Amino acid sequence: MRTPKTVPPVKRTDITDITEKCTNCGNCRVICPDFKYKKEESHSTRGRISLIKGLYLNELNNTKLLSDKIFSCLNCGQCSKYCPADVDYKTLIKLSKSRLSRNSYIKRFVLSGLFSSDKTRSEFFFKCLRKALVLFYSKPAVRFFRYGLLKLLRLPGDSVFPQISEKDFFSLGIRNKLSSYKGFRIALFTGCGGKYLYPETTDRFVRILRHSGIQVIIPKNQVCCGNPLENAGILKQSSGNIKINTACYNSLKDIRCIVSLCGRAMNSLTGRRYSEKIRLPLKSWAELFFEENIRIKPLYKSSVIFHLCPKCGSADHYIKLLNTAYTEDDKKPEMITEFCGSTELMDRSNMAVRDSVTGAFFLNNSLENYTHIACVSFECVEHLNSFFIRKNANIRALHFIDAFDL
Ligand code: SF4
Ligand code: SF4
Repeated sequence: MRTPKTVPPVKRTDITDITEKCTNCGNCRVICPDFKYKKEESHSTRGRISLIKGLYLNELNNTKLLSDKIFSCLNCGQCSKYCPADVDYKTLIKLSKSRLSRNSYIKRFVLSGLFSSDKTRSEFFFKCLRKALVLFYSKPAVRFFRYGLLKLLRLPGDSVFPQISEKDFFSLGIRNKLSSYKGFRIALFTGCGGKYLYPETTDRFVRILRHSGIQVIIPKNQVCCGNPLENAGILKQSSGNIKINTACYNSLKDIRCIVSLCGRAMNSLTGRRYSEKIRLPLKSWAELFFEENIRIKPLYKSSVIFHLCPKCGSADHYIKLLNTAYTEDDKKPEMITEFCGSTELMDRSNMAVRDSVTGAFFLNNSLENYTHIACVSFECVEHLNSFFIRKNANIRALHFIDAFDL
């Protein structure tokens, strides 16, 4: 694993100002999954803050061991809720991972292409990936391709890639009838998940909205939300994506709000790090359903469990929606509000911690008793399916919308 020889110079505003706020109270250790797994101070939030501080004040050397401890963080953000000093740990870890970048040239090339702020480039990379994945999952004769690809990307031998749909959302060519128009439009932010991985889920969502009299605008110029790049420490490009999406959605007129099917993608639009802000209100799709009294029927009565990951934001609207969708005659839906372990899919440095968190999540919630788990972000769907396939578990993850119909 390549590690840079020198650490870039300290920028007081973005590293030391954050680390100096930490009072060393240790509250954050209670929740940190990495600390629970390793049981070492240097694998806790507080420990990582001390390491980062030492590194940027040139008191510690940038060794592989130190870098491993920093990359062990799953970016779950749970520690921030326990911090009385309001330390902006999320920004700290992102800046640190970016500066200690462990991306090989190939990985950076692939990630920057797939999640590019240039729509045409991104489409080309997804087209190539679609073809590559056909080979990856094909017969033994071309299995050498699988071995080569994993080696190239420095991923473990049992890695599972997301399946990419044959057509992206804009190529589906499906039109849904608009009935009894309510008189307003909303803008949908699909993200890569809703565009390339799960276009049918997006289409189902548009069908439900149009059937309920809501017109949906889906700008073709939107690009990836930037989360995969940010998680991989490619911050500059991630900022570029957010800027393009902000400009794209701010140019829309007569729109009531922006919604997305992906909790993580939606979080990126808050644009805290950028001067230009999203002008339109951002709403969770469940909040919209609730406000507009959109009725949906559950497709599964007993074999599904609903997952409201704390990494995706507030669970309140999803809980209200579930309680309304499941009528009194139905068995009440079962829900999990625990972190599932999802993090950057192409980072192998925290695989053991991640597997331990997801393994505990699987056992604590007796997931072997269900056929499906419904999630509110495409990243959780992908993370959980990758785990289930690797562990030969029968359950599969799907998006919330795919657990309902009109
Ligand atoms: S973000 Fe999650 S894994 Fe990282 S330090 Fe905080 S609680 Fe631990
Ligand atoms: S809870 Fe906040 S102030 Fe306390 S040790 Fe953790 S990061 Fe520092």
